[in-house]
Amino acid sequence: MLMTGAQYIESLRKMKTRVYMFGELVENWVDHPIIRPSIDCVAMTYDLAHDPEYADLMTATSNLTGETVNRFCHLHQSTDDLRKKVKMQRLLGQKTASCFQRCVGMDAFNAVFSTTYEIDQKYGTAYHENFKNFMIEVQNNDWIVDGAMTDPKGDRGLAPSAQRDPDLFMHIVERREDGIVVCGAKAHQTGTINSPWHIIMPTQAMREEDADYAVSFATPSDADGIYMIYGRQSCDTRKLEEGADLDLGNQKFGGQEALVVFDHVFIPNKYIFMAGEFDFAGMMVERFAGYHRQSYGGCKVGVGDVLIGAAALAAEYNGAQKASHIKDKLIEMIHLNETLYCCGIACSAEGYPTAAGNYQIDLLLANVCKQNVTRFPYDITRLAEDIAGGLMVTMPSQADFKSDVVCGKNGETVAEICDKFFSGSPACTTEERMRVLRLIENMCLGSAAVGYRTESLHGAGSPQAQRIMIQRQGNLAAKKELAKAICGITK
Ligand code: SF4
Ligand code: FE
Repeated sequence: MLMTGAQYIESLRKMKTRVYMFGELVENWVDHPIIRPSIDCVAMTYDLAHDPEYADLMTATSNLTGETVNRFCHLHQSTDDLRKKVKMQRLLGQKTASCFQRCVGMDAFNAVFSTTYEIDQKYGTAYHENFKNFMIEVQNNDWIVDGAMTDPKGDRGLAPSAQRDPDLFMHIVERREDGIVVCGAKAHQTGTINSPWHIIMPTQAMREEDADYAVSFATPSDADGIYMIYGRQSCDTRKLEEGADLDLGNQKFGGQEALVVFDHVFIPNKYIFMAGEFDFAGMMVERFAGYHRQSYGGCKVGVGDVLIGAAALAAEYNGAQKASHIKDKLIEMIHLNETLYCCGIACSAEGYPTAAGNYQIDLLLANVCKQNVTRFPYDITRLAEDIAGGLMVTMPSQADFKSDVVCGKNGETVAEICDKFFSGSPACTTEERMRVLRLIENMCLGSAAVGYRTESLHGAGSPQAQRIMIQRQGNLAAKKELAKAICGITK
C-alpha cells in the first residue's frame, strides 16, 4: 500500500509518542507549529510517490512481496536502484529545501538486511528472518522508520562498558526468554517523532567486553519507556509568531532532530536483529554509514539547487545579475553542487551485491562523497551570502513591512518607509526581494541550516570518520606497487 501525505499525517495522531519541548510535555505534537513543518516535509515523500511524473524514482517493486512500494521502504536490488535512490533524494531536496527525514530508515533497512544474513551464517541465529518479517510489515504499512545509530557517547576516550554512566551507550540490561530490555539513548535523531517505528543499531565497532552494547532491534516509537526531547533550531520561535510567515523563508517545510531516550524498554524476540554479536557491530555501522554518506550526494544537492536558484534570484532583484563576478560565483556554486552529485552517482554505479542479495554502495567513493559534503555546502552558503548582500541578516521583520504606524513627517507609515528603502530592481516588489533573502537566511543560518550546512559537516559521521574509512579503503599498498613498477624499483 502507498499512503498519501494526508493519510500519513492522520496515522501519526494514533501514536502515543511522548515529546518534550522547552521543558514541557507537548500534548498535540502533530499540530504544534514548530514541529508541523517537519511532518509536512515527510509527507512529501508520500505525496510524490503518487505523482506519475515521479513514479519511476519514488516507487520500486519489492523483492519480498512483489508489490509496488515507496522507494524509501525498498531493499536495493541493483546499481540502478542505488542511482534512483540518489535521484529521488535530490528531487525531494529540491521540493522541500530541507531534510525530509525518511532516508535514515531506508539506509538502516539495507544495512540491517545484509548484516543479519551474515550474522546468521556465522552463528545460526534467526535475525535475518526476524528482519525480513519486519520489513514486510514496513512495506505493507508504508511506514517511515527512523534509523538510529548515534549514541551520546560520553567520554570519547572510554569504551562503552567503561563509561561512568552505562546508559551513555545503548545496551541490554536484561535478557529474558521472550526478549531483551534495553537502556540508553540516541542523540541528534533525525525524524524521530515523525516515525512510528525505530530501528536501533550500534554506534561503533565493539569489543567482547562491550557485547551487551552490540544490539540492534526494531520498536514502535511509543513503546513504554521511550520519550523524546526536541532539539531547538536557530530562529525556531519565528514559527510561533502570528503574521511572520515571510520571516520563515521556507514557507512550508523544515527538519527535526531530538534526543530519544530508552528507559528500560522491552523488545520482543521477533524484533531483535543483533544481541551480543559484537564482531558484527562494525559491519552494521560501516554499511549504514556508507549508505547514508551516499544519501548526502542526493539530498544536499537538491537543497543546494534551491539555494543556487535563490542566490540567482537575489542577484536579479538587486539588479546585479549582469556583473561578471556574480555570474562566476553562480557557476562556482553549480560546479560544487554537481561535483557532490557526481560522487553520489559514482558510489551508486560502482555498487555490488551483498551475500544477502541487496546492493551495497562502493564504500570508498561514498566516503569521498561525504567528505566533499563536509566542505562544499560551506562554500556554497558563503557564495550565496556574498551574492545576497548583508540585507539578508539586517532586514526588518514582516510586521514592519505591514505596519501602519506613522513614522514620517508626511504621514508615511513604517511599512511605506520599509518599502521605499528596501526596494531593489524593478524586476521585483520589495516583498519578493524580502522573501528570497529570508529563504537564503533560512538555508544558511536559520532552521534549514541544521539540515543543510551543519548537518553537511556532522550528519552521517563527522569528517574524521570518513578520513578513517578513506585510509582503510584507499589501498595505499597497491598504489606503491604502481609507483615502483613505473620507476623500476623491483623489491
Ligand atoms: Fe535524508 Fe539528507 Fe535528511 Fe539524511 S540529512 S535524512 S539523507 S534528507
Ligand atoms: Fe542526516
